[in-house]
Amino acid sequence: MSSRILIVDPDATARAVSEQALTAANIEVVGSVGSGEQALAIARTAQPTIALIDVGVEGMTADTTARRLRDLLGYRLDVIAQMSFSHVDRVVEMVATGTAAFIVKGKLDDLVAAVRAVSSGSGMLSTEASRPLLEEIQRRYEAEMERNHKLEATVARLEAVSITDWLTGLKNHGFFWERLVEELERARRYDRPLAVIMADIDDFKAVNDAYGHSVGDEVLRAVGGAILSSVRESDVPCRVGGEEFALIIPETDIDGAMRAAERVRVAVSQLSLPTVGSVAISLGVAVHPYHAANGPALVEAADRALYEAKHAGKNCTRLVGGDISSIELIGSMGPVVSALLAALGLKAPRLVSRSRRVADLSVQLGLEMGLSVVDLERLRVSALLHDVGVLGVPESILMKPGRLTEAETEAVRQHPVHGHNLVVDATRPEIASAVRAHHERFDGTGYPDGLAGSRIPLFGRITHVADAFEAMKSDRPDRPGHSFDAALAEIASGSGTDFDPEVAAALQRIYEEGSGGAEVIDFPA
Ligand code: GH3
Ligand code: MG
Ligand code: MG
Repeated sequence: MSSRILIVDPDATARAVSEQALTAANIEVVGSVGSGEQALAIARTAQPTIALIDVGVEGMTADTTARRLRDLLGYRLDVIAQMSFSHVDRVVEMVATGTAAFIVKGKLDDLVAAVRAVSSGSGMLSTEASRPLLEEIQRRYEAEMERNHKLEATVARLEAVSITDWLTGLKNHGFFWERLVEELERARRYDRPLAVIMADIDDFKAVNDAYGHSVGDEVLRAVGGAILSSVRESDVPCRVGGEEFALIIPETDIDGAMRAAERVRVAVSQLSLPTVGSVAISLGVAVHPYHAANGPALVEAADRALYEAKHAGKNCTRLVGGDISSIELIGSMGPVVSALLAALGLKAPRLVSRSRRVADLSVQLGLEMGLSVVDLERLRVSALLHDVGVLGVPESILMKPGRLTEAETEAVRQHPVHGHNLVVDATRPEIASAVRAHHERFDGTGYPDGLAGSRIPLFGRITHVADAFEAMKSDRPDRPGHSFDAALAEIASGSGTDFDPEVAAALQRIYEEGSGGAEVIDFPA
């Protein structure tokens, strides 16, 4: 039986050209259609022996068309696949359907040769002749894929570079604005809060002036790292200026945003830098929809808050507008705290820097324990002022080189009471009680009141752990300071006797998960 060809090709012109070439070669064309569906419709009547199917056919795919035609006709129908190089990825499925020959679309000589080969029973695939074509197809396909992969990688790299700050690896200023617009849109659509934090390193000009620009750059890199490691995956920390940073904090209300900012502040304050020692950062917070409805206004509001933080003495966080009680609280108490610390500094300067470290660690513990922003601010103030009662201890005792007598020891043990009396009218009752309680022990054997367990005010229990941890790490005349790990172990061993177990556990957690423990956090005495 001579061959009867059914042409399936979506391109009518190409169909006509193929038909003409076949007819000129005395090969019978029994049908010429544009789709697999049409091929099925005429197949029974046309009774083809060979289907020439264009792999680029739309609707029913070429391999399905081939299979269904065979099922319908119930006899061995040979298939010749016609394709352009853009369809080489379909070769595998066409081979799987038992295609007898592959030809490149438009090569009419090959078409005629393929039909002849297939009708004589030797399909191109079964002959050596088909191998070069298939190999060429394979080669081109692989080259194409490799080019695509390279292109994709290049595009990805360019994209990353264009949104990254070269110095810190944080996102850059351009990305900040782009992302802020997107996040605000999402926040509005789902009626969710969105916080922006602006941050600026304190007295950074002095760092550059004293140590030079390259040290300054090192500091910027370290601060960037501290910021990155203290925020969540979904937060977007960016460097938006020389020593200015901006963070987008999605899904976060005022309380959460203030806590996030404090976490950043504490992380930066605890950096231990090779040349510079330590740096501090001030932060301003604003939250959509409470403080502003659009991006520029939100950033401006956070900037205003940052300005307030600088104005209030730096190394602190401020919320714009001062519309929650914590801000009011710290705002009105700021001068009192400063004055009391200044007075303490006249008598015992090292106690002031130590109190600041104790306050930072206390806030960190409070954050870990889930305290609210208002409580964190109160905790911070009480920790800053915890030793202010030392003002009431006679200088002769403070300066005494040798062992203290019993009476002298008793006088030192009065400092929490003095502290309480000094701050009670100027601040708040719970701050005064915390100051009074910072030497109470969990088992009730501390001073001045011998309180135990939960009867000790919480802020006092927290400050006690922070204070003890600082003390353990500091050198003393009779012994050098403990190592970081030894101090941590000592707090753990005092859990339940000296220390509130929950606070002690929070301390362990901070340094387990935290930004790397001993190397990073090594407070100078
Ligand atoms: P403030 O606490 O008020 O922020 O004081 P400041 O000294 O940080 O003052 P300000 O923010 O006005 O000054 C920023 C300084 O940061 C100016 C410049 O010396 C330094 N700086 C800005 N960009 C870079 C930078 O890319 N690399 C380095 N090394 N220093 C920079
Ligand atoms: Mg600045
Ligand atoms: Mg600055």
